[in-house]
Amino acid sequence: MAVQEAERIEFKAEIRQVLDILIHSLYSEQEIFLRELISNASDALNRFKIESLKSNNQVVDPAAALGIWITTDKEARTLTLKDTGIGMSQEDMVSYLGTIAHSGAKNFIEAMKELNKGDTKTTTDVIGQFGVGFYSVFMVAEEVTVTSRSFQPEAEAAYWKSSGEGSYEVGASDKTERGTVIEIKLKEEAKDYAETYRIRQIVKEHSDFVAFPIFLEEESHEEDKKGEKVFNQINAQTALWRERASDVEVEKYKSFYQQLTFDFQDPLKTIHFQAEMPIQFYALLFIPSRRDYKMFQKQDDYGLKLYARKVLIKEDFKELLPPYLRFIEGVVDSEDLPLNVSREMVQNTPMIARIKKALIGRISTELERLAKDDEAAFKTFYKEFGQFLKEGIASDKDNTEKFVDLLRFASTATEGDNLTSLNDYVGRMKEDQKDIYYVLGDDAKVVARSSHLDYFKKNDLEVLFLTDPMDNFMLMGLSEYNGKQIKNIDDAGLELPEDEKKIETPKDEGFISLTAFIKQTLGDKVEDVRESKVLTDNAVRLVNPSGMGATSFHRAQRLMGQDFQVPKKILELNPKHEVIKDLADRLKTKGSDPLLPVFVEQLYENELLAEGIHPNPAEMIPRLQKLMAEALRKS
Ligand code: ADP
Ligand code: MG
Repeated sequence: MAVQEAERIEFKAEIRQVLDILIHSLYSEQEIFLRELISNASDALNRFKIESLKSNNQVVDPAAALGIWITTDKEARTLTLKDTGIGMSQEDMVSYLGTIAHSGAKNFIEAMKELNKGDTKTTTDVIGQFGVGFYSVFMVAEEVTVTSRSFQPEAEAAYWKSSGEGSYEVGASDKTERGTVIEIKLKEEAKDYAETYRIRQIVKEHSDFVAFPIFLEEESHEEDKKGEKVFNQINAQTALWRERASDVEVEKYKSFYQQLTFDFQDPLKTIHFQAEMPIQFYALLFIPSRRDYKMFQKQDDYGLKLYARKVLIKEDFKELLPPYLRFIEGVVDSEDLPLNVSREMVQNTPMIARIKKALIGRISTELERLAKDDEAAFKTFYKEFGQFLKEGIASDKDNTEKFVDLLRFASTATEGDNLTSLNDYVGRMKEDQKDIYYVLGDDAKVVARSSHLDYFKKNDLEVLFLTDPMDNFMLMGLSEYNGKQIKNIDDAGLELPEDEKKIETPKDEGFISLTAFIKQTLGDKVEDVRESKVLTDNAVRLVNPSGMGATSFHRAQRLMGQDFQVPKKILELNPKHEVIKDLADRLKTKGSDPLLPVFVEQLYENELLAEGIHPNPAEMIPRLQKLMAEALRKS
């Protein structure tokens, strides 16, 4: 076979930019380059395991031990990593080390631009999230040579060499063993990485749980071998999730979590268990302590690590959890999944559905327990992830029961930033109260003044404040709790307890003509205008003629910025209120006052605003100014 000429190839523009950022910026945590190279080697070893099963051992070096070997040379200032993984052909090198297939590079560049001024620790910590990990080696390298032999018997060995500036060289190699060797000529200022104690330290911190053994070449300390070079394993290599929960120290969980997620904070909650029936698996799950630790996470960038008998099948396996539990991190290792199924096939096996069901159940009980045993932690959890639960209530009818008791809301009975559960609400319900009441709005302070609350405050009936945008969606999946209907207090058809106590007002002629006048003025905007039987402190309120949930739906539409039409509602008037009485008087004495319709419109739009369904509050400003000008002129 003809020996191929070495080829020099320019890096794609985006990679040049990535490299430029990495080479010329001073990052505080350059050491993470080693984590990235080890993680690539570990991926390569995993992929080899799977491929060799698929190809029935028709591979190069079928018996070679699976592992990662690191050697250093202080004099030569070199660091070398060797693995017996899947390997790369020359073609592979060009496509994997010369281009970035996915949007990783672009996202990385964007992120760096934003971060460059700020937190450099986060900067390097996120590199692995972008699929540009390999290039981080150029933070410390003057030159990198990758030599590799693919597992496929017909493929030829090749090398890839670059100084990270502009281009790389590829050519044929005479490497006969399967796997990849990465030889790094360190920059002068990075010569520490040729010290074995540094390598030990970094591996302990960042790669201790890698599933393959990592060996480091060191001088032996044993008497008879003194001065001889030997390879020592330097990572714990434990499948922590397979250990008994009672045997694992908290610190181990923390460091495992950090190596898994790159989150430098401790997890809020660790969930570690094994299941036997109906399917056997191990799970080690974490709830992060805050929602946005992955600063640049894309919407669909989540999932658990799925192993089958300690072999990593998939890195971000989404099908193990419903989307609303996407904030959960962790590992699931199944005893029963067939190893040689393709990664694509795995998601369709019924076993996955069964594991998923078990995980959901366990997560729900653990959260219940957290709510009971650790109020402060649960509060943090709810603040960070409560919205995900609401999303779950809206989208996953089958599991409503598992999460509904975790919901928390402010209400007319809560104080400060305390919240109540539905269960506690029910415990406080009046004897003759049939339904659970809520009021919708954009924020608790506005809602607390809602005109709908008049009656409820007077009769000491508790009302929940639903002020989170997510609440609207949640209501789509939550119409009752514990056999009790959950009702919006703007529902005109509400059957209120203590009905006999409703305020009776004598029919007043002035009020009757005001009602007719308002109806005529607002015309099509309202379904009807009528006297309210429940208002005490406020002048007017808007109620829903159709009953059931309409306001939440309209508010959701407005919040999503959809083409939004103000819904037609019933305007109720409080005949005892000053404003209403004054308006009735004015209509009687100066029926043709051009300001009267302006007052009416303003009164109506105030209510739209209070309900969170005003399409454009700024439109009210000219009218308000007109009213002010009139008032000023007259006084
Ligand atoms: P990522 O690991 O997110 O894919 P990297 O930049 O770290 O991104 O690596 C790029 C690609 O280079 C890998 O996906 C893999 O195909 C290839 N690669 C890197 N290191 C090795 C290795 N040791 N053995 C085999 N392939 C490797
Ligand atoms: Mg990588």
